[in-house]
Amino acid sequence: MPTGPSLPDTERTSQRLLVKLDSGSVPIDVHSIARLWTGLSIIEEDIDGPGYLLPLGSLGAEIIIRQSDPVERKRFTIAHELGHWVLGITCERKTGKFEQPAGLRHDTIERWCDAFAASFLVPRQLLVEYFRGIDDQLLATHLLAAPRHFRVSEDAMFLHTYEVLRMRIAYFEPRSSKILRAFVPDAIAAQMERAISLPSIRDWLHLETFAQKIEVDSTWFTCCWNRLSRSGRSLIVLNPLSRSKPPISRPTP
Ligand SMILES: [Zn+2]
Repeated sequence: MPTGPSLPDTERTSQRLLVKLDSGSVPIDVHSIARLWTGLSIIEEDIDGPGYLLPLGSLGAEIIIRQSDPVERKRFTIAHELGHWVLGITCERKTGKFEQPAGLRHDTIERWCDAFAASFLVPRQLLVEYFRGIDDQLLATHLLAAPRHFRVSEDAMFLHTYEVLRMRIAYFEPRSSKILRAFVPDAIAAQMERAISLPSIRDWLHLETFAQKIEVDSTWFTCCWNRLSRSGRSLIVLNPLSRSKPPISRPTP
């Protein structure tokens, strides 16, 4: 069966680029990409949208970003447009023309560039290292500090942490035990609602910090949360237990 046009793996693509940029630490220096491609420049302007890539033919391209955006938003826009640039030069190598891959929906390419940007700014290996050896009691606090560490928005950070580590993250209101904002697919958000309505959890919702192993839908998680003093809402994390349960020994027949 013939396969349609496909896009490269976002993680491998960003990883290769980070090696070329010699970026072994965070926050990733997004402006260093202009050193790798001298024809690529980053320009801040007073524009309506967050940004776009302006190809300049043989001269290269300009990444235009919105001047008024916060630094985290600007960094994500640069990384997203870098995704378009990488796709463009990959096409150019094959067909001789700088363009976005043909035969794919616009939103497919946009989603690819978002995923590329997230793995470029929050590389898998550095994310794994960031959480290595962190106590259950400190997990929520450590997670809350992650956006500043990687210098990305909380949205980008938490969504990517689910994608890479399968940590389910949400804000909830302890009084109503309702999820206010979940950084996971809808079905997973429903699972988080079930977690905070478990009898073993309900009694503890008033606590400012919490960490305990719980079972939801036959899967074991470390469940922890932190109450944010300003808003009164809590950040909850369901972290799947990586250690597999000891195998059940069966008598040999
Ligand atoms: Zn785009």
